[in-house]
Amino acid sequence: MIGHRMPECADLFASIQGKIRQVFLTQSRVYVNAASGTGLQEAAVRNCSNQKVLNCVNGAFADRWRQVTEANGKDNEVLSVEWGQPIRPEQVAERLSAGGFDAVTVVHNETSTGVTSPIQEIAQAIRSLPNGEHIMILIDSVSGLSGARLEFDAWDLDVALTSSQKAFALPPGLAFCAVSDRALEKAKTVPHRGYYFDFVELEKYLLRNQTPATPAISLMYALEQQLDDMLAEGMEARFARHLAMRDMTIAWAGQRGFSLFAAAGYESSTVTCINNDRGLDIGALNQYLRSQGMIISNGYGQLKGKNFRIAHMGDLQFSDMEELLAAIDEYLTTA
Ligand SMILES: *Cc1c(COP(=O)(O)O)cnc(C)c1O
Repeated sequence: MIGHRMPECADLFASIQGKIRQVFLTQSRVYVNAASGTGLQEAAVRNCSNQKVLNCVNGAFADRWRQVTEANGKDNEVLSVEWGQPIRPEQVAERLSAGGFDAVTVVHNETSTGVTSPIQEIAQAIRSLPNGEHIMILIDSVSGLSGARLEFDAWDLDVALTSSQKAFALPPGLAFCAVSDRALEKAKTVPHRGYYFDFVELEKYLLRNQTPATPAISLMYALEQQLDDMLAEGMEARFARHLAMRDMTIAWAGQRGFSLFAAAGYESSTVTCINNDRGLDIGALNQYLRSQGMIISNGYGQLKGKNFRIAHMGDLQFSDMEELLAAIDEYLTTA
């Protein structure tokens, strides 16, 4: 192990910084934290609002962000949308036009429902409001980023956060967030930003290729290797691979008589949520899949048993999906 104030660690940090910005499609800073994604949900609202947050809620993780916002004592309102639906730009613009808001939280890829919200269009709608330049656009892309297209700079976002264990396909323990200049300036005006995730402190240390507290150095070695692999594949190719795996999964489901939980046109490119139209025992299906060295996810929370979710993200390839879907077919012939 190297020490976190040694030049070797600063070199590793700098090398990661150059590469991870390419994955976020940004020239802005990306903070690399010893945390999980939920920690950065907290960081985003603590640093970016001293008026009122609009929490857009269309699933379990979006609702977690609402809870995080309230647990931090931030004033908020909730835009509540039926699960399975995306957050739509016109809904966000309408709520914000009432005034008084300085931040919006939206989940890019709602893992509990398999729905992708149109972040680019939502950001455009926000920026075209009279005070749109003063509203912080905070995006959770925990299960999207690096698999589902998210263009931090081109879409003019303020915070985009993710963690290491989903589409980055790394062990858990790291969380990353891109932060715009606008958000950093905003943070300077917000009192009580907390200590561990204070953007102003993180920035001070980032400029010397360090973090204020001890980073997860061993995981950063893994991260650097994974970033090399991602950039060797190329981000466009990576997005296309995820879309192809999604389309294959959707086609399979349709051919077997299953409908999708996500509203048409908003199906996630990293996880497909399939309605249990055939009344399968998902637990038994998973037990069978486990015996074959694979696993899928049951429906999330209240959706348990009603649907099941197939992930197609990270390092998974077309051939892995073929193998998984063939195994489910095998189970279906016996169930
Ligand atoms: C998994 C997930 C989270 C929680 O992330 P942790 O890294 O477990 O804290 C938040 N949002 C979304 C969309 C997720 O899929």
